[in-house]
Amino acid sequence: MSPLIDLKNLSPLELEAFLTGLGKERFRAGQLLRWIYPRGVTDFAAMTDLAKAFREELAERAVVSSFVPEFEEVSRDGTRKFLFRLADGQSVETVLIPMEEGRATLCISTQVGCAMQCAFCLTGTFGLTRNLTAAEIVNQVCAVRASFPVDNIVLMGMGEPLHNLDNVVRALEILCSTSGFDYSTRKVTLSTSGLVPEMLEFGRRVCVNLAVSLNATTDAVRNELMPINRRYPLAELMRACREYPLLPRQRITFEYILIRGVNDSLDDARRLVKLLHGVKAKVNLIPFNEHAGSAFLAPDPAAIEAFQRHLLNRNIVAIRRASKGQDISAACGQLKGKLEEQKLLT
Ligand code: SAH
Ligand code: SF4
Repeated sequence: MSPLIDLKNLSPLELEAFLTGLGKERFRAGQLLRWIYPRGVTDFAAMTDLAKAFREELAERAVVSSFVPEFEEVSRDGTRKFLFRLADGQSVETVLIPMEEGRATLCISTQVGCAMQCAFCLTGTFGLTRNLTAAEIVNQVCAVRASFPVDNIVLMGMGEPLHNLDNVVRALEILCSTSGFDYSTRKVTLSTSGLVPEMLEFGRRVCVNLAVSLNATTDAVRNELMPINRRYPLAELMRACREYPLLPRQRITFEYILIRGVNDSLDDARRLVKLLHGVKAKVNLIPFNEHAGSAFLAPDPAAIEAFQRHLLNRNIVAIRRASKGQDISAACGQLKGKLEEQKLLT
């Protein structure tokens, strides 16, 4: 007998193909998606608008996986971190961040670890263990939505999403499908360290918001902070941003971690203005989050202020983002999962 297929690993189109392969009508895919995602049902027997024989056939060939958090932690600021144990014993973390007006943003992971080795990021220091499957990506959303409303989704947890492009695209197609969770493209943001070819391919395949982790304004500094820059230097990255397909009012978000004495000078602010010339951009300024794995320091508040003012004066939308969830290691760049934590201690 062939192994059971996890239906959460199939995009809506792949689910249609799977069903037509069983001789079923295409529209059954929508019915199944509505059971699996908005209703959160994992047992085929409970899918009562499907014929009994069809439900039995499904149960012979497929499963619907689900996650239960192994561990949950709440920060003083209301940020909530979930740890999920994966079938092979690895773990991933997902963070629910309260926003204004009672809304919440869910920050999900796309890999166990990350291969990109950015100098400032704790996730990167451990290297890549493996990609997450599409099911493991969407199950983070399914599990949190079972208990909390999730208004926005950001792919900014562990991992470089464009390094796991196919599974990330599958997961986004499910999240945005009208029969799935029906997230509008404005509510979903993918963040990348700047894998240029994958970025352009992603733009052709899916339409969600794009964030680029920029973090430096010269190749010399960016090479040190983000080794990926040696493969795709700033000029190439910015050219890809100019070419990136955007909807009429959409912009690319540039994330810029301010690190004391490294990239937080007014000269950097001036170079940033030049780099963004001709790009529909907004800038998120994030003070570096100090952590035991790095000698970098958080910037001086006056330096943040001056940097932001320089951008605003040149009509660049620049927002200061505080990292939430610091007291529970849920803030940007602090996600690492349980196993790695043990490695750190031994
Ligand atoms: N790998 C993708 C997806 C998100 S990574 C990317 O790099 O864009 C996690 C995010 O946390 C990135 O935006 C990164 O710039 C930020 N980050 C990493 N370490 C940080 C730190 N120590 N302080 C503040 N932000 C950090
Ligand atoms: Fe990976 Fe992003 Fe961390 Fe860089 S910042 S190591 S790309 S998770």
